[in-house]
Amino acid sequence: MSISTDKELNPWESQAARFDFAARKLGLDEGLWKILRFPAREIIVHIPVQMDDGRIEIFTGFRVQHSMARGPAKGGVRFSPDVNLDEVRALASWMTWKCAVVNIPFGGAKGGIICDPKKMSMAELERMTRRYTAELVEFIGPEKDVPAPDMNTNEQTMAWMMDTYSMHMRQTVNAVVTGKPLNIGGSRGRREATGRGVMIVCNEAIKKLGMVKENTRVIVQGFGNVGSHAAQLMANAGYKVIGIGEYDGGLFNKDGIDINALVEYKQRNNTIQGFPGAGKADNMELLEADCDILAPCATENVITSKNADRIKARIIAEGANGPTTAVADDILQRKNIFIIPDILANAGGVTVSYFEWVQDRQGFFWKESVVNEQLEQILVDAFDSVVHYAETHGVNNRIAAYMLAIDRVAYTIRQRGIYA
Ligand code: GLU
Repeated sequence: MSISTDKELNPWESQAARFDFAARKLGLDEGLWKILRFPAREIIVHIPVQMDDGRIEIFTGFRVQHSMARGPAKGGVRFSPDVNLDEVRALASWMTWKCAVVNIPFGGAKGGIICDPKKMSMAELERMTRRYTAELVEFIGPEKDVPAPDMNTNEQTMAWMMDTYSMHMRQTVNAVVTGKPLNIGGSRGRREATGRGVMIVCNEAIKKLGMVKENTRVIVQGFGNVGSHAAQLMANAGYKVIGIGEYDGGLFNKDGIDINALVEYKQRNNTIQGFPGAGKADNMELLEADCDILAPCATENVITSKNADRIKARIIAEGANGPTTAVADDILQRKNIFIIPDILANAGGVTVSYFEWVQDRQGFFWKESVVNEQLEQILVDAFDSVVHYAETHGVNNRIAAYMLAIDRVAYTIRQRGIYA
């Protein structure tokens, strides 16, 4: 894949390189290429927020809507000092492809605010979130664009967004965001959904490769909402979770880590550091450790041209968005590593977001077992379609997922036609 190494770490370039490659393979019409190559709408807001000490601070926020061809735009909102427009563009495009891979009726969007949430109080975060929502009030809505949690945002953030939007509409509109607390229209199973999805696709991958859970050693990078649930569900299902990486250091135990105990430890101490049931490990070195499944569940660009060659895992399951760069893809392919790409592996979250949106609009809430069964069915079908597509077209799983997704979105645009 042609991409220079100086562009390697730009997620937009990573997305575009895969898109171009897949579009060429598909023989995508040039007009459709032009439509899908770039986002449909990019909104930048500069939000004034009164800080606790009385000062006024201006925060820059984004909402990029890549496509609304297959339904309302859909995707999370992240709070981080590293947020930038190119990253949000890439993440918005990935949402379009992700929703198309699992065949749910949404387009793709993403939002973000440049801020350091660790240095802000709850009250400051609330004021910032509410003002951001108010600035976007014309652009979001159950039929337009439905935000959700992402990095450093959570159920509380969604409750504030839902309330602010509802105040503007003069009525409660719970379907405007997903990932809400259960009490105000959230879905059972949403919190664990992304991690559960990672486990479901791993179950399918090991079945395909003739492996069994009990002998499958797993390393998970990230112990936030995605990584902790993936690790816990996998450990409880019989996998041997031997390593956990976190930004402030990792843990390793070749005999397996007691993940239920680790979850409790983190709840008490707010870190995994010092956990007695495992030795210390370096977060980046863990990626290169001997294991069967590596699940990067933290952030972008952790598998790059600098370390891809040293990765020993048989399977990589991408719980994060964009953890592997396009340059690293080629190296991993040469090593014959079985990749479950982000737009499939982490699609469990948005799939249960879809269920949440459906439940809110119906005003009827499902049992957790129903949510989990429906999720499993969707992800198993999507996994089969991607792997089958890869085998029949002679491409890797990532390109197969992009091709499948681009084809579905392009078909919809052709069918709808271009409004003049
Ligand atoms: N932020 C999550 C993702 O990247 C969830 C998006 C959603 O539920 O809309 O897939």
